[in-house]
Amino acid sequence: MVSTKAPEDAYTAEPFLPERGGLPALRRAAAECRGCPLHRDATQTVFGAGTANARVMLVGEQPGDQEDRQGKPFVGPAGRLLDRALAEAGIDPADAYVTNAVKHFKFTRAEPRKRRIHKAPTLREMTACGPWLAAELAVVEPELIVLLGASAGKALLGSSFRVGEARGAVLEREIHGRAEKLVATVHPSSVLRAQDDADRKAAYEGLVSDLKVAARALS
Ligand code: SF4
Repeated sequence: MVSTKAPEDAYTAEPFLPERGGLPALRRAAAECRGCPLHRDATQTVFGAGTANARVMLVGEQPGDQEDRQGKPFVGPAGRLLDRALAEAGIDPADAYVTNAVKHFKFTRAEPRKRRIHKAPTLREMTACGPWLAAELAVVEPELIVLLGASAGKALLGSSFRVGEARGAVLEREIHGRAEKLVATVHPSSVLRAQDDADRKAAYEGLVSDLKVAARALS
C-alpha cells in the first residue's frame, strides 16, 4: 500500500540532507526541506550565513519577520543590535557564521491587521531541524559556539538548558569525538523587548558582557 504520510509528518530534516558537499550544497538542499510543517507558512528557508572558515558560530532561535522576507539570518532589528554588541565586545563579524536552531519562521497572525507575530518553536520542531545545525557545525568546525537564547541552548545542550544558569561562562561538550566550546547569552530580541530604557540598558550590557567572555575565549 502506498503511504499517504507527508514528509513533514516525520519531523526530521534527515532525508533532505545532501550526501556530500559543503555549505553551498547544504544551503541548496535546505531550501527544499519539508522535514516539519513549518515550511508551509514561511516564505523561504533561512539558512546560515558566513564562511566555512569562521572562528565563531552564533546560533539564534529561528528567523524573524524580516529574515523570512529577505532570506538571511539576523537582518532585522535584533540583528542590528547583535552587530553593535559584537563590535563592542571585540568580535569581528567577518569571524562569525550566523545561523538559527530552526530554519523556518514560525508565527501567528494578529488581528485586526494580520501582523505576523513570532512564536517560539517546539522541542519537536527544533529536533526536526537539528540535522541542519549539526551539518553546519560539522562543516564550519568553529572554535567557539555562542548560544543566543534558550532555544539555541536547548537545541545543542538539551531541554534542561537555562540561559540564566549557563550564561557568561565557557561551557564544553563533546560530540562525535570533537570537543566544542560554547558561551551562552540572551537572544538580542529579548533586549529589544525590555519594559523600559533602564531594563533595556541593563539587558544590553549583560549581552555585551557575555560576548566579551566569548571574545576572550577566542583570543
Ligand atoms: S524548520 Fe527545519 S526541519 Fe522544518 S521544514 Fe524548515 S528546514 Fe526543514
